[in-house]
Amino acid sequence: MKRVLMGVGLTASVAAAAVAQQMSVPAGLTLGSMSRVSPVLKAERTKENFEPALMLPAQQRAAQAKLEALFKKTGKRPNILIFVVDDLGYGDVGAYGGGESLGAPTPHIDRLAREGLKLTSTYAQPSCTPTRAALNTGRLPVRSGLITPKLLNDTADISGEILASKLLSQSGYRTGMSGKWHLGEKDGSRPWQVGFDEFYGFLGVVNAYQEEHPNATDVANDPKLLAELRSMPGDRNVWRASKEKGAKPVEQINWENSRDLDQKFASFSEDFIRRAAKSGKPFYLSHNFSKVHYFNEPSKAFVGRSATKDVYRDSVVEVDDIVGRLTKLLEELKIADNTLVFFTSDNGPEEDSYPETGVTPFRGAKGTTLEGGVRVPGLFWWPGMIKPGRVSDGLFDMTDMFNTSLTLAGIDATKAVPTDRYIDGIDQTGLLLADNGESAREAVYFWNLDLFSGVRWRYYKMSTSEVQVGSGNVRDFGGLDNAQVLTPLNSYMYNLYLDPKERKSILIEKAWAPSYALGPLVALHGATMAKYPPKVKIRYR
Ligand code: CA
Repeated sequence: MKRVLMGVGLTASVAAAAVAQQMSVPAGLTLGSMSRVSPVLKAERTKENFEPALMLPAQQRAAQAKLEALFKKTGKRPNILIFVVDDLGYGDVGAYGGGESLGAPTPHIDRLAREGLKLTSTYAQPSCTPTRAALNTGRLPVRSGLITPKLLNDTADISGEILASKLLSQSGYRTGMSGKWHLGEKDGSRPWQVGFDEFYGFLGVVNAYQEEHPNATDVANDPKLLAELRSMPGDRNVWRASKEKGAKPVEQINWENSRDLDQKFASFSEDFIRRAAKSGKPFYLSHNFSKVHYFNEPSKAFVGRSATKDVYRDSVVEVDDIVGRLTKLLEELKIADNTLVFFTSDNGPEEDSYPETGVTPFRGAKGTTLEGGVRVPGLFWWPGMIKPGRVSDGLFDMTDMFNTSLTLAGIDATKAVPTDRYIDGIDQTGLLLADNGESAREAVYFWNLDLFSGVRWRYYKMSTSEVQVGSGNVRDFGGLDNAQVLTPLNSYMYNLYLDPKERKSILIEKAWAPSYALGPLVALHGATMAKYPPKVKIRYR
């Protein structure tokens, strides 16, 4: 083993030192394949600026054969429909143990699991903007610079990035975005300026527009203050935009009208799908719910629809109903067999407004890289293409949707993306389409804002730091308020199968794992940051 490790200049002791030093890159470490660094690591790097992937040629061939057969039948590339719910918990969905047991059944989302592929280890980032950046660009937020959730009058700028929607639009897709954007409200960073042919939605986050929420009596009962706040810069509009007709604001969001936003976004998405189907062009539609981010207020038809009649669970029922409307529309239009549907959430449940919030079986929640903060539902549905009822615990990172979408569109990501930037995503068409497909991802890396916080490999997770949230003696609540960073003497390491709640570190007890797997992975990840400097200054501890 020593010879193998020495071969790329990384000895076991150097790897361990890399862990201790939190990702300082050993001298001489080049961006080779993971498999060259340690015999327990198997991923191969096929291009220097792309994340190494597990080589699974048989399932890759099976997936390609299915795609080619479908192309022969339909004469066009498949449609892609992505559902992103805001702050929905892993445990809210019936298929993941919630639903009926929480008084808010999710039959339409559960159907996607029953008839498709349920992933149990899908990873988002700890909050809204970073996850949406990762999903759209295939790059970790530190690379694109979009590391924090943005508020009013924000300065976020995604214009220097290449979005999947841009590449798909250029290759003949009709690309649309419905609902929440949250990747920059400034001119130049808006969805219709960076790759979406059509947009109907808002640019930030809904609670920023709801200052006069009835429980916020400091503003609700002070009309003068409210008027002053509303006179300040910050975009509160719902925009309607298309590349043919340009962009125009259609209404300003306030507490009263925010309850109906998701119904309006659903109507837009229905219309978009109908028009795209009629046009004969394939479509890529990202449907981003305003719900179930606080402050929730279900639209009138959904008030009292959950057992507990609370605003959060009524809103879960509303989200589920909209998922049902759009997936049934695909069937009515007879395009379901040519449309990949992906359902997910942008982070774990927020708990600032606990207990009318989401649920997770894991420790922590939104705002942390504990499993509760970043492990989200991940469902894929594609009748005739994905074998029904499959379940996989293979690793899936939100960045993988970038590469996977390009592959479905027949675009070679390694040719379409310039060599000046690093792509963290991995093509997962083999996992989705081969009947027993496995994940091509060997590791998931965790970041809290600009701070590296750990890596998962197989069922081991090493955390170099943890964000803990809460007050008093309660330290595992989730939210962005009251968060603090905890840096352990050693890194923490957990066996997520034996210890899914990340309760007890076993780093020293299982010394081989940090030495031969997790440490080298961290060092290699650090080497990618050194070779392709991220847009923000990063910290390791
Ligand atoms: Ca969110």
